[in-house]
Amino acid sequence: MYTVAQLIGGVWGAGGEEGELVVHDPADGSPVSSAPVATADVVGKAVEAAREVEAEWAGTAPAERAAALHRAADAVEAVTDELAAAVTAEMGKPLADARGGVEAGIGTLRQYAELGPVRGGRTLHGGHHALDFMVPQPRGVVAAITPWNDPVAVSCGLLGAALVTGNVVVYKPSERTPAAGWLLARALDSALPPGVLSLVTGGAETGAALAAQPVDVVAHVGSTATGRAIAASAARTGAKVLLENGGSDPLIVDADVDPIWAAREAATGAFANAGQICVAVERIYVHRDVADDFVAALVKRASELRMGPGRDPATELGPLVDRRHRDHVHGQVTAAVAQGARILTGGTLPDGPGAFYPATVVADCRHDMPLVRDETFGPVAPVVVVDSFSEALRCAADSPYGLAATVLTGSMSHAHRAWRELPVGTVKVNAVFGGAPGGAAHPRRGSGQGFGYGPELLDEFTATKAVHIEAPGRGHW
Ligand code: NAD
Repeated sequence: MYTVAQLIGGVWGAGGEEGELVVHDPADGSPVSSAPVATADVVGKAVEAAREVEAEWAGTAPAERAAALHRAADAVEAVTDELAAAVTAEMGKPLADARGGVEAGIGTLRQYAELGPVRGGRTLHGGHHALDFMVPQPRGVVAAITPWNDPVAVSCGLLGAALVTGNVVVYKPSERTPAAGWLLARALDSALPPGVLSLVTGGAETGAALAAQPVDVVAHVGSTATGRAIAASAARTGAKVLLENGGSDPLIVDADVDPIWAAREAATGAFANAGQICVAVERIYVHRDVADDFVAALVKRASELRMGPGRDPATELGPLVDRRHRDHVHGQVTAAVAQGARILTGGTLPDGPGAFYPATVVADCRHDMPLVRDETFGPVAPVVVVDSFSEALRCAADSPYGLAATVLTGSMSHAHRAWRELPVGTVKVNAVFGGAPGGAAHPRRGSGQGFGYGPELLDEFTATKAVHIEAPGRGHW
């Protein structure tokens, strides 16, 4: 059992008398970790303490900050196995995936350590008597509020970019993965000056208390509803808001593709991490010409997936994060059935402990069903049959979200229409996951705002200052 401690003002175990939250292993229900629940008062103290070291860290040479971040990445690397085990125990994903998330996080820390010191401003061409330039400066105190579905990778991105650009950070990991957040913060803190990174733990109330503080940036990765509450709160303090939120990503299967290959792509997109990926395939629009073969192959793949605890190396489909989330997923599936959809495989609550939910394929879906329109965040593939690529594009674009979309097609003109016309941050053609390193996009609509990753995230955490210098009296120095 992990006993999580908070880090405030460089002191581990700070925070005083508070409540406690307990996380249970979603594979068997056993208790995994306990963590303090920070009150608004404690959160306020953490922000005050962060302010005290803000100027010193901002004034540290960028190369020195980058060297500290490299050492922090080394420290995280040294506890890779421990971190991966904590992620699997707390949120259930297969251990190999959890390890992949930790490794991705370490890679991101190193990338930001390299990019931070070389990313500068611009010089401007004013008169000969003057010097004009634009320079990025740290914004100050960053509140980083993160989710549970890929907790280490997501946190490393925000923390690495915020720290290397000279901000101090108050970090609140998800209440569903506090031990992963604690182990990560312990490793990072071991390489950073005291107080530069603080850790507060707790749930929605703790997050809301942090978002309401007079910080300079609130960076939130999580659900759209939370992102909107944070934006409203930050509007009252004037903090900048960075939101990477939910999605309901479409997959379009065109008439000219191999339906068996398309089904494999769809299964990967819909069932990896039990569908708990922001860019998971959430709705499928398949052309009538290939629909029967595609659906048959998708059902076959879904029913073959080995479901089990994440710590078992044979497991392909771990449990959902907890029973509360399973109720949400199952509720959406049963509502769709009541509206005329048909379950082809899965869709039932297994007996036994834990929060397992089978890979589920739902046919006869309509575009207007909540199962199709809303984010499910579970291993569910709702299939809508369409009569043309234009109809598929129209449905894909008609969404309250705008995170990402995938199109499977052999037509270059359809591929070009897709990337031009879809109002989303990322468009993938003929691969559900993937993309070159360093890519970054603006999520649209309910999916958030600002760059959540890539080199551009460094700009999000800095404020650009324009400087004009001339000699006194327009003369010489
Ligand atoms: P969530 O928004 O419920 O929780 C995320 C964090 O916000 C947690 O630390 C939580 O305690 C905190 N929080 C909750 N209510 C709050 C409030 N009112 N004020 C301030 N903080 C609050 O999201 P989740 O369930 O942890 O994560 C799943 C969601 O995250 C999905 O919607 C998924 O699509 C999204 N997600 C998006 C991305 C992306 O890059 N776009 C990446 C990963 C996950």
